[in-house]
Amino acid sequence: MIVVLRIGHRPQRDMRVTTHVGLTARALGADGMYIAADDRGVVTSIRDVADRFGGEFFVEDKVGWNSCIKRWKQDGGVVVHLTMFGLNLPDVEEEIRTKEKILVIVGAEKVPGDLYQMADYNVAVTNQPHSEIAGLAVFLDHIAPNALHREFPGAKVRVYPNACGKTVEEL
Ligand code: SAM
Repeated sequence: MIVVLRIGHRPQRDMRVTTHVGLTARALGADGMYIAADDRGVVTSIRDVADRFGGEFFVEDKVGWNSCIKRWKQDGGVVVHLTMFGLNLPDVEEEIRTKEKILVIVGAEKVPGDLYQMADYNVAVTNQPHSEIAGLAVFLDHIAPNALHREFPGAKVRVYPNACGKTVEEL
C-alpha cells in the first residue's frame, strides 16, 4: 500500500499543484492521499476524476501531519520524505520496494525541520530542486508495482491508446 501525505498546502495558491499531486498519485499506483490542510475544492476535484476514471483512490483533507506520521508508524508503515536533500532514489529504491506500507510525503514551501528525523527515508529524485509532482511521479514509477500499467475497475470513462487522435468510451 502506498499513500501520499501532502504537507504545506496553501488553499487557493496551491490548489492546482495539490490537485495534480493527487491525480499523479492515483494514476501511478498510490492508494490514496492525505492533505494536511482544509481544502474541499481539491478533495472534490480529485474524487470527481477517481469517480469517472475508476479505481479505488481515497482523499482526506484536514489531516494533522504529525499525528498522521505517528499513526502510520504505529501501524507498521514506513515513511518516505521526498526532498532534494535526501539520499538519491537509485541508492535506496531496492530496500524501499520491499516495504508493504509506504507513506510518501511531499512538501510545498519549506517543510518543518522535524520531518527529516521523523522520516525513515529522506529520498531525493536527483539533488536538484524541482517539483513535488515530478518527484512523486518518478518515485512511484520506481516503487509502485506496474506503475505504468494499472487497471482502474469501475470506470465510467475509458481512454484507449491511439497513435493519432482520441478514442474515448463512455461506459
Ligand atoms: N525549498 C523547499 C524546501 O527546502 O523544503 C522545497 C520546495 S519544492 C517546490 C516542494 C517539494 O517538492 C519538496 O518539499 C519536495 O517534496 C519536492 N521536491 C523538490 N525537489 C525535489 C527533489 N530533487 N527530490 C525529491 N523531492 C523534491
